[in-house]
Amino acid sequence: MVDTRSSTRKPHISEEPITLSNWQHHVNWVNTTLILIVPVLGCIAAFWTPLRLPTAAWAVLYYFWTGLGITAGYHRLWAHRSYEAGLPLRIFLACVGGGAVQGSIRWWSSKHRAHHRWTDTNKDPYSVNKGIWYSHFMWMVLKQNPKNRGRTDISDLNDDPVVVLQHKYYGSFILAFGMFFPMLIAGLGWGDWKGGLLYAGILRFLFVQQATFCVNSLAHWLGDQPFDDRNSPRDHVLTALVTLGEGYHNFHHEFPSDYRNAIQWWQYDPTKWSIWVWKQLGLATNLKQFRANEIEKGRIQQLQKKVDQKRAKLDWGIPLEQLPVMEWCDYVDQAKDGKDLVVIAGVVHDITDFIKEHPGGRIIKSAIGKDATAIFNGGVYNHSNAAHNLLSSMRIGVIRGGGEVEIWKPQQSKKN
Ligand SMILES: [Zn+2]
Ligand SMILES: [Zn+2]
Repeated sequence: MVDTRSSTRKPHISEEPITLSNWQHHVNWVNTTLILIVPVLGCIAAFWTPLRLPTAAWAVLYYFWTGLGITAGYHRLWAHRSYEAGLPLRIFLACVGGGAVQGSIRWWSSKHRAHHRWTDTNKDPYSVNKGIWYSHFMWMVLKQNPKNRGRTDISDLNDDPVVVLQHKYYGSFILAFGMFFPMLIAGLGWGDWKGGLLYAGILRFLFVQQATFCVNSLAHWLGDQPFDDRNSPRDHVLTALVTLGEGYHNFHHEFPSDYRNAIQWWQYDPTKWSIWVWKQLGLATNLKQFRANEIEKGRIQQLQKKVDQKRAKLDWGIPLEQLPVMEWCDYVDQAKDGKDLVVIAGVVHDITDFIKEHPGGRIIKSAIGKDATAIFNGGVYNHSNAAHNLLSSMRIGVIRGGGEVEIWKPQQSKKN
């Protein structure tokens, strides 16, 4: 059967190349206004607006509140359910998170769950594989092809009235907590209405936006991968400093339901500290942590993987199972014929090129044609690990039955 829908379907704008005549159709104007146009206008207005000290302090404080709205609220509470929050804390986080001007909890969490589920693929809404600027903010500036949408389940979020209400009145939340509330505090507090709107409002949300965007770009691009290197997430202290502790992103993608991103006490994770304090105040409960044993297992497996990769690059000699099998008498005959062969632990080694280099001198020659296992392992000299390694590169065969044990020979002949 021929699918006529696909042949008649009008291609989505994102499937057409961006040209001078169609670029405006590619742009998502609502997002672009909120994350580019208003912040840029704010930067320009700052040239004519003096920054007063109390306004600067308030802007920094409100930066932390609204940043936490995203990291502790949108991200660790709603997107990952890494702890539970009572109604007062949920209302606070929904308000200050809305003031960060990054979309509603419902929209943000659904995209973020898709990001975790489809990391680095076409269905990852902010896949770093499409370029660092794409993952940073271009994924919001340009219209997305609905065909690539990675589906996620957000039924739990639809059951939370705080999330539903915030989504329904999201425009009002932006105006109220993105701009009006910070302006009100500065205006009523010390008479700086304009500075409050500009510095604690617009420029403050520009910084919170850019910090969060760094989790999608920088944290998938800069740093180490101590837990898993199959995908792009990385740990870096710089990203953590910019993002209120969200920079331990390799850990986070591996253990997303852990309320922590940094697991060491000395690592910078103010989001974790805040959630912990809220727990002490009775505002948050059920803080989830992966067992240290499980985390260590992941770290060791990744370490092992790195070691194995390095190990595979070295010459460890021909594997034993690939060596030809020799009879003991053939080995003895070949040695008598002048070949410099020694048997150690059932393996025949050709030491022709090594005799001159042997650090112990020509004594090595006394082992030719014999089972030198005991001689090598302490009978004459207890060889180092490096000597064992070097020996493996001289392997040429294995003795059928594993070798001859010299000490048994007199006993056997007595019996016979
Ligand atoms: Zn990520
Ligand atoms: Zn996450």
